[in-house]
Amino acid sequence: MILTFLGTSAGTITTERNVSASLLQLTARSNRLWLFDCGEGTQHQMLKAKISLSKLEKIFITHLHGDHIFGLPGLLASRSLNQHAMPLTIYGPKGIRQFIEMTLNISCSMMTYPLQIVEIEQATTLYKDEQVTIYCDELAHRVQCFGYRIEEAERAPKLDIVKLQTENIPVGSLYGELKKGKIITMPDGKILDGKNYWLGKKPGFKIAILGDTTPCDASIRLASEVDLLVHEATFKHELQERAQLVGHSTTVDAANIAKICQVKRLIITHISTRYGLSDNESLLAECRQIFPHTDIAYDLFQVNLA
Ligand SMILES: [Zn+2]
Ligand SMILES: [Zn+2]
Repeated sequence: MILTFLGTSAGTITTERNVSASLLQLTARSNRLWLFDCGEGTQHQMLKAKISLSKLEKIFITHLHGDHIFGLPGLLASRSLNQHAMPLTIYGPKGIRQFIEMTLNISCSMMTYPLQIVEIEQATTLYKDEQVTIYCDELAHRVQCFGYRIEEAERAPKLDIVKLQTENIPVGSLYGELKKGKIITMPDGKILDGKNYWLGKKPGFKIAILGDTTPCDASIRLASEVDLLVHEATFKHELQERAQLVGHSTTVDAANIAKICQVKRLIITHISTRYGLSDNESLLAECRQIFPHTDIAYDLFQVNLA
């Protein structure tokens, strides 16, 4: 999985950071693209990251504050200019349907592709297929806000080449079939069960992408033992009281959640406009005192979980 941060600022844009959006490419080989939040200017950020709008498959909105949704109408309308845009499903809290339909209707924007909108009411498994499962849970913010946990299915195992060669099974396309776990009948009648030649499965990656929140039980449920936690850290620790008051987290809050959840890696984002890129080191230092494997996102920062 490859995660690209398209916008990393809280509330409004700065000359250094765009507002919230991040894009998950489900596998390095597939073109399946899922967008999380869509702040103003997201389509421009996608252009810079060389990501095709038309290939977006799903958009997950955490909550309806403007810095997370104002990029939606423009992005949806621009997609219509491409005749090959694939069907798109948008998930978000109650109200997302009205926001999208009203802005598209008032601006007379015609959709040329199937657009499905799913309003989320509570914690649930939102979507599951043979590659991936995505769960949502309700966070603690000033408006209803969801966080997402994405779990990749177990990855294909390696083949036991030594065993295959010992049994004189010829190298070729057959190996690919066995790797998929298929049962093959050989020309001499011998039956091979692919699973007998597996060297064990690899667990898939797990990522939690949380929306705006103060520390809460749902954050802990979503982030438990993930490979990568993307957590907001709007403020430094000195503004702890303010963070609590306005439904946000500090660097220390984010690091504590990462530590409690025993995640492998933390990336903080949704940084207040009061901090420039020159403050990155001091923001990071506060996190790393508690959770050393922390990074701070910047626009177009890409993480490859291969
Ligand atoms: Zn926000
Ligand atoms: Zn918010």
